[in-house]
Formats: sequence, structure tokens, C-alpha cells
Amino acid sequence: MIEKLKANLNSIHQRIEMAASKSGRTAAEIKLVGVTKYVDAETTQNLFEAGCADLGESRPQVLWDKSAALTGMPIRWHMIGHLQRNKVKRTVDCCELIHSVDSERLMLAIDQAGQALQKTAHVLIEINVSGETAKHGFNESEVEVILAKVESFKHIQVDGLMCMAGLRGDLNSARQEFAALKEIQMKFQSDVASNVNLKHLSMGMSGDFETAIEEGATLVRVGSLLFEGL
Ligand SMILES: *Cc1c(COP(=O)(O)O)cnc(C)c1O
Repeated sequence: MIEKLKANLNSIHQRIEMAASKSGRTAAEIKLVGVTKYVDAETTQNLFEAGCADLGESRPQVLWDKSAALTGMPIRWHMIGHLQRNKVKRTVDCCELIHSVDSERLMLAIDQAGQALQKTAHVLIEINVSGETAKHGFNESEVEVILAKVESFKHIQVDGLMCMAGLRGDLNSARQEFAALKEIQMKFQSDVASNVNLKHLSMGMSGDFETAIEEGATLVRVGSLLFEGL
């Protein structure tokens, strides 16, 4: 299984490199987050051993369980799905980065968890770029207000923005949405709170990560492609 995972990783890294060079970037600017929500702890461990140390989960409970099962391995865990406030503390405790901060109340809960754990929680602000009502995330019009509030959260560091492309699924509309996230990044890159540095754009999944890289992604969240043919 590890050989197949290595081959899949290799081919994804090659595609990342090609998409990067196509847009005048280097692959070193882009980090692959392997999304392990489809597989068990053993396969997750195999993926880590195949060379993927940044792993993402969309459900807090699963993330906790896997991080406990794989304890001692230098895995950097990423929370990429909706997070309920009663699940914040354990998640902050075991995560490197929470991609999916989608409300001010959640941010407050993360700040309190950071205080209790004596740690700075690194987060991304999720933006609902497609404007679909079923989607989590702030609307574009709310970004300025929420970024201004971050200053008062002493145990939070905002490292960037995250989005998911809309459900329409065609690459053209995905590209427009990724470009919209990039624009928000540029708009708020300077002149923000001292604990805001929008260096990361988390965007792009198996079906659209190359498009996302062409539009400026620094973190791509790839799941299904990694496990193809296992
Ligand atoms: C499942 C998931 C992914 C990975 O999706 P694939 O299409 O399988 O690559 C990325 N981001 C989020 C938020 C997810 O829930």
C-alpha cells in the first residue's frame, strides 16, 4: 500500500509543480494537505510514512481519534471542516492549523481554548466565495469587520483565508471564486491587526487544485486522488 501511496503522492507533487511553473510560482510555495477523511488510522499512518506529514480531517472527533492513535509521529494536523464550539478545546490542542473559522462565536471559543491551553491557535478565516446559502463561511462583506475584531483575540493568529469552490463544479466558476479569495487577501494584506498575516490561501481539492494554484493557493487540500487505486 505504501508504494501505491508514494506513487500517488509523487504524481500529485508533479502536477503541483507544473501548475506552479505555469503561473510563475515555485512548488516550494505550495503545501499539500493530505485529506484522510476517507480512510482508517492505518491507511492514514501509511500516508504519513509515504511522505505526507500534513494531514487534514473534516470531523473533529475523527481528527482527535487519529491523532491519538498516531501519537508520537510528527504529523501536522489540519482541521478543515465545520467545527462546533463544544469541540474546540481538544481540536486546538492537537491541531497545527484550523482552516474553517466561520463565525465570530467560534473565534471567541478558539481564543478561550488558546488561553486555557497557553497556546496561540493558528487559524484561517473561511470565506463563502460562491455565496451558496448551504455553505459555511463569512460573506465577503463581513471580512473587514471580522478582521478588525481579531486584534482583541490574544490567543489567535490569523494566517490566511480558506474557501471551497461552489457546487456547480465547473473549473471556470471555481477559478473565479479562487480569484475572488486572492483579491480579498490582497485587499487586507496590510493595514490589519498585528495578529493577522494573510500569507496563506487554502483552496483547491482533487478536482481543482491546479486551478487553485494558478490563482494563488498556498495550501491545497487533496483527498480522493491520494487513495486512487488502493
Ligand atoms: C473532503 C474535503 C477535501 C478533499 O476533497 P477531495 O475532492 O477528496 O480531494 C478538501 N477540503 C474539504 C473541506 C473537504 O471536506
